[in-house]
Amino acid sequence: MTKSLITGANKALGFETARQLIAAGHQVWIGARDADRGQQAADQLGAGLVQLGVTDDASVAAAAETVGELDVLVNNAGISGGRISPSEATAEDMRTVNETNVFGPVRVLHAFIPLLEKSQAPVVVNVSSGVGSLGLAADPDGPWNDANYPVYASSKAALNMLTIRYAAAFPRMRINSVDPGFTATDFNRHQGTQTVEQGAEAIIRYALITPDGPTGGFFDRNGAEIW
Ligand code: NAP
Repeated sequence: MTKSLITGANKALGFETARQLIAAGHQVWIGARDADRGQQAADQLGAGLVQLGVTDDASVAAAAETVGELDVLVNNAGISGGRISPSEATAEDMRTVNETNVFGPVRVLHAFIPLLEKSQAPVVVNVSSGVGSLGLAADPDGPWNDANYPVYASSKAALNMLTIRYAAAFPRMRINSVDPGFTATDFNRHQGTQTVEQGAEAIIRYALITPDGPTGGFFDRNGAEIW
């Protein structure tokens, strides 16, 4: 049975991803930084729980020990850091957001790559964002030009570069970034225009990818590359 782990899966897109992967027949571990909220979600889903804060080395190492074997890793946990304009952004804001959105996935990859390397069909999905697309940001008519929040956007651009570099380093793995699209969750005070079912579509598509599928890509929910 395919074994999957989703970080930040006690709610929202991570929870919905877990639900759909269980429906697809996977044995799912959810990662949650808060053990109580994680246990409630795991019980609701019928998933295993690992207490995993992506900024916490010890919890990530312990989670890898507990999980033992892994085929699919979804780096979903992320924070927005708030709507910080370029004139307001500080180095400390960058540090906080990157700690979760960039150093977090690196910490998790470092711990779980040894497990993924033992899988017959290893897969990593890095949950990115369209605002992390350099191409869309550089386009004067780009869709996110009115939402100029460089701290969060640059953290997702960095995550996308990690996708390219890790995909090149581990050619047997399918490692892709995905943009779920603007989805109503606590992340945006439920202002998103998509449901979590719609938002999870891209994550699920690339979590269920087969070894002949793409790697090192950055895809939106329609499967378009959005570098
Ligand atoms: P959400 O409702 O805020 O949920 C985020 C999840 O990440 C929660 O489970 C949260 O745990 C967890 N998390 C945050 N920091 C963590 C840490 N240090 N360690 C472990 N878990 C942590 O957000 P969402 O909308 O589902 O977003 C999920 C991902 O999609 C994020 O990476 C986000 O950047 C990306 N995304 C979202 C949208 C959107 O429109 N919603 C669009 C594009 C990309 P707690 O419950 O403990 O806080």
